[in-house]
Amino acid sequence: MGPTTNMAEANVASVPDGTKDYAPLRSAKQDRHDLRKPHITDLPITRSNWYKHVNWLNTYFIIIVPLMGMVGAYFTPLQLKTAIFAFLYYFNSGLGITAGYHRLWSHTSYKATLPLKIWLAAMGSAAVEGSARWWSRGHRAHHRYTDTEKDPYSVRKGLLYSHIGWMVMKQNPKRVGRTDISDLNDDPVVVWQHKNYLKCVIIMALVVPTLVCGLGWGDWRGGFVYGGILRIFVVQQATFCVNSLAHWLGEQPFDDRNSPRDHVVTALVTLGEGYHNFHHEFPSDYRNAIQWWQYDPTKWTIWLWKQIGLAYDLKEFRQNEIEKGRVQQLQKKLDQKRAQLDWGTPLDQLPVVSWDDYVAEAKNGRALVAVTGVIHDVTDFIKDHPGGKALISSAIGKDATAIFNGGVYLHSNAAHNLLSTMRVGVLRGGCEVEIWKRAQMEKKDVTYVNDSAGQRIIRAGDQVTRIVQPIASADAA
Ligand SMILES: [Zn+2]
Ligand SMILES: [Zn+2]
Repeated sequence: MGPTTNMAEANVASVPDGTKDYAPLRSAKQDRHDLRKPHITDLPITRSNWYKHVNWLNTYFIIIVPLMGMVGAYFTPLQLKTAIFAFLYYFNSGLGITAGYHRLWSHTSYKATLPLKIWLAAMGSAAVEGSARWWSRGHRAHHRYTDTEKDPYSVRKGLLYSHIGWMVMKQNPKRVGRTDISDLNDDPVVVWQHKNYLKCVIIMALVVPTLVCGLGWGDWRGGFVYGGILRIFVVQQATFCVNSLAHWLGEQPFDDRNSPRDHVVTALVTLGEGYHNFHHEFPSDYRNAIQWWQYDPTKWTIWLWKQIGLAYDLKEFRQNEIEKGRVQQLQKKLDQKRAQLDWGTPLDQLPVVSWDDYVAEAKNGRALVAVTGVIHDVTDFIKDHPGGKALISSAIGKDATAIFNGGVYLHSNAAHNLLSTMRVGVLRGGCEVEIWKRAQMEKKDVTYVNDSAGQRIIRAGDQVTRIVQPIASADAA
């Protein structure tokens, strides 16, 4: 531990954002690349150098070993007991990743007692996805730099890249964003697992399943092939979906600025990690699904551990904060929808016309109707007027404020909306301005509210052409 700590300390100064990760705990030479030399990823992939771009160790564990397992399965009959064991072992090694690596170590969304930590580190090793320390460092970078160049598995580089490409191809160590993992370096279980990772993997991923099935019911080969290799393959592909599918498929109820999404299919595949839009918004919440009916067995298991005293301090965001995020996203969607609709030319963009010019133009044959000081061209609408031609024609060239607002017929909100799309001008000194002023005096909180696109929000019943009661002086205008 001595030299490692010194190296870590030495590196702190060189990291401007105060993070403290650095010195790999394992043998430095293998992992380290001389940062002064160009990294292989800086060079384009060509026919002569492509194999240097491949991370062969990862490729071996993620692709080649499963292929060998499939060949082995062809020659190995599957026994029922072995199948049941393989499923249970799949579920537990999956939990090692979701409840252990992810929710406990990456996000500290709850606290675990020592026995539970050891169990999670052991089961996490059985999934063969790297040490908890390595995994959590990458995952914290993923949350901190989501969808950017510093995101180790950015879905912006393609679905396949976010799924396995980032492991199969070599990564430039300079590229992945830095994160603080000093808490993990202080966790003896994490450090021990990191230092003894290869032993942990061989024992937990292969030896244990083989022994259980062999000693239990004599199925040594089945234990190795189904409980070991193929089970590893399934767990890996399932949990990799958190990086790929969860950033690609589904809804975005909390924030749509980045790629994370919620979908039940992803949840089914990943032991409940499918509510990923929620998760990226509230990462330290021990839940991924917040509704009781949503599938989140990882959450249920953590809750169960709490009941039997293995886990404690389960973190939850307040419902108030969750609902705020939801409402804001709804509002954004609403604004987008509103922006697509025709609300008529804004009043301040309309030409100002004198009363005499308005009357003269109407006499010239243009069907103009003034309501609350706003001039509307109803020429194309007369024949469609639900109240008949005569009534609307009688209003041409006049102030129809009172007629429109109940003098003859109290028009609906929809009628006011429709009328607003026919606006062509504003009367100089027209009563529109006065009406809004009066409304503001009467109910003091009436102000123009704009949406995020700067458009004025017109609520039902708030069209400018609508007045609470007909104005006595309307005819005199
Ligand atoms: Zn994510
Ligand atoms: Zn996460």
